[in-house]
Amino acid sequence: MTHVIDGNAVAQRIRDELRDSIETLEAEGTTPTLATVLMSDDPASETYVSMKQDDCEEVGIEAIDVEIDPDAPAEELFETVDDLNADDDVDGILVQMPVPDHVDKRAVLRAIDPMKDVDGFHPENVGRLVAGDARYKPCTPHGIQKLLEAADVDTEGKDAVVVGRSDIVGKPMANLFIQKAPGGNATTTVCHSRTEDLAAKTRAADIVVAAAGVPEMIDGSMLSEGAVVIDVGINRVDADTEKGYELVGDVDFESAKEKASAITPVPGGVGPMTRAMLLYNTVKAAGSRADVEIELP
Ligand code: NAD
Repeated sequence: MTHVIDGNAVAQRIRDELRDSIETLEAEGTTPTLATVLMSDDPASETYVSMKQDDCEEVGIEAIDVEIDPDAPAEELFETVDDLNADDDVDGILVQMPVPDHVDKRAVLRAIDPMKDVDGFHPENVGRLVAGDARYKPCTPHGIQKLLEAADVDTEGKDAVVVGRSDIVGKPMANLFIQKAPGGNATTTVCHSRTEDLAAKTRAADIVVAAAGVPEMIDGSMLSEGAVVIDVGINRVDADTEKGYELVGDVDFESAKEKASAITPVPGGVGPMTRAMLLYNTVKAAGSRADVEIELP
């Protein structure tokens, strides 16, 4: 029987455990606080930010919502980040990407105080991750590690294939897999748009993480018997639904499920974990700021 890994259930458990840590912090006089900064009128970005705000409120993290006109000069965003850096009540700062073209994205990532960089994208935090001394693991790959752990998948000595080399998913995922640490110790291959014969790579894998953003590109014929399949993709495809589209992953679930020993669905797999791990990083940041020992899930 294929184990369909329930990301909603694992994320729920993590949120419940975080609530206990938040109570500990509250008892010490600290309310964990996340500031989200949105400089976009893209409906998808607006939805992501409002979901993050709701997630915070649900577990007892204070959420500050800053919106900047997408036509405003870049300085306005940098000044906002400076103010949030200087605000002792703010633990985490998240600038929702993408920012408008006239704003230098990398400069924004560098402007955030690394202690408050709960996305883990500041170069200092990327460097620490690569060095095996992560302060904040990026939310999606960290969530995948937690999912694998919850599904009793031991990565040690396994062949892992990561499809995708983005800064937010593929690269940090591969870095976590090669760490000499729990959830790591995997022999890791990173595939991307220039990879020749992707199927040969994925067929040789014990664990496949699909993060290419190509609808249902990985099907059962590309997997070995008993593979563990983690589907990161969230792709809108036209469909005869009320909204006119549906969301599908990078994996063709039905055929992949025939081969896999464990697989994540879309939705309800990696997505809820990404959201939960942002809360995790915010609580961790609050613990550091308050210098309070807290248990993290
Ligand atoms: P991206 O576009 O930044 O990167 C995609 C990567 O896939 C690139 O490195 C590219 O080289 C590789 N790629 C593209 N086509 C390929 C092909 N045919 N074969 C092999 N590799 C190919 O995307 P991203 O931000 O990493 O996101 C990837 C997907 O994951 C998207 O669908 C995105 O919506 C989704 N996503 C989901 C979550 C979540 O929480 N579930 C979080 C982040 C991203």
